[in-house]
Amino acid sequence: ELPLTHSGAAFMRAQKVIPGGSMRPSSWFPPHPPYALRGQGCWLTDLDGNRVLDCSNNFFSLVHGHAFPPVVEAVREAVGQGTAFGLPTPSEIALAEAITGRAPHLERVRFCNSGTEAVMYAVKGARALTGRSAIAKFEGAYHGTYDVMELGYESSPENWDGPDGDPAATPYVRGTPPGLIAETVILPYGDPARCADILRRKGRTLAGIVFDPLASRIGMIPASAALVEVLQEACARDGIMLICDEVIGFRMAHAGAHSLFGLKPDLVALGKVIGGGLPAGGVAGPAARMAVYDHTHGKPGVALGGTFSANPLTMVAGKATLDAYDEAAVSRLNALGDAFREATNAAFRAAGLEAQLTGMGGLFRLHLTGRVLRDFRDITPTPGGEALARVQAALLASGVLVTPNVSGALSTPMTEAETTLLGRLMVDCVAEALG
Ligand code: PMP
Repeated sequence: ELPLTHSGAAFMRAQKVIPGGSMRPSSWFPPHPPYALRGQGCWLTDLDGNRVLDCSNNFFSLVHGHAFPPVVEAVREAVGQGTAFGLPTPSEIALAEAITGRAPHLERVRFCNSGTEAVMYAVKGARALTGRSAIAKFEGAYHGTYDVMELGYESSPENWDGPDGDPAATPYVRGTPPGLIAETVILPYGDPARCADILRRKGRTLAGIVFDPLASRIGMIPASAALVEVLQEACARDGIMLICDEVIGFRMAHAGAHSLFGLKPDLVALGKVIGGGLPAGGVAGPAARMAVYDHTHGKPGVALGGTFSANPLTMVAGKATLDAYDEAAVSRLNALGDAFREATNAAFRAAGLEAQLTGMGGLFRLHLTGRVLRDFRDITPTPGGEALARVQAALLASGVLVTPNVSGALSTPMTEAETTLLGRLMVDCVAEALG
């Protein structure tokens, strides 16, 4: 029996026309999420008039929060001049300049419409550059819904290792092509030595390694320097393309996550923040690698394009967002996030609660364990299990929206007032859920 709310009524209506009643598995939680009505800065109002501090920020994509005035202004101006053309527009050059201008390693960029597409095009780019087909990725890591990227995502203790003793390429979707499963290599994020061993044996078959140095589904645990070294070494030795997934991570540094971790990726997948709140994706990298997408000298290595790729609304929203997310804004938000996680973790310890926040910069994720976390296997099954869902529900009831697995992102409209409130509610809700 659903409560008689406007959101409840909307969900009932939706179930008649939408399988599952809503559009995104990752943002769904029972009995149903509230429906959003509008947002302003870091606050969101739902259909029933509840006002919540939005720490989901559309899954870490709205670095300036909702209805950021420069974005609203830029989109308003652009929308009156036409939303999409079968021609290039100067707006795509401006966003490309904004990205390459802040990240020297990213000399060229091409835009698409989502992070999933960005990863897909990067994978195809790696294949075209190497003439190989196999891809390596990390156990548990989420990179969107391109088929090869879903392998090893839903591994669990019953199927950790495959027939050869290496982590299994467990398919997410029934009917995944067996050939794809057979050739995909799954790497353990928390065990650089085992990664090195696997790559010594299988590296020469690989077109690319897809790597997110702060993978949210691996617990938002920063990658170790040892792992970065193993990956760079294997890629150099065996001619593998290193693909850095910065769909979430680009926001962590002015020049992108790779610059923070000392990575020299061949290709970088972009999304979320670069679109300023509109649908966006991109592939970027050194000019020599990005030439694989050049279509002006006959058939390109990879055809990268789409009807709405680089549409001017996304381009101007992205440009307005990055312009306002300058070095000072990035440092301020990262410092705010670091202080928030440190203070909250100290409060968990002081209260004797088995809980911790992982993350980096403005990104955080809650785990209901005090143990040191290194790997996907350390958080599978989820420590605290059901209690984590209770924390999410309690936070929502107290006026804070986080993702269903209790991760979140700060946004630039937030100040210490919001992070102090968030930290206090987090400790209270964890105490309540564990109590
Ligand atoms: N890569 C990572 C690391 C992501 O977090 C996501 C989305 N959450 C994607 C890729 C896919 O992006 P999109 O949802 O825009 O397709």
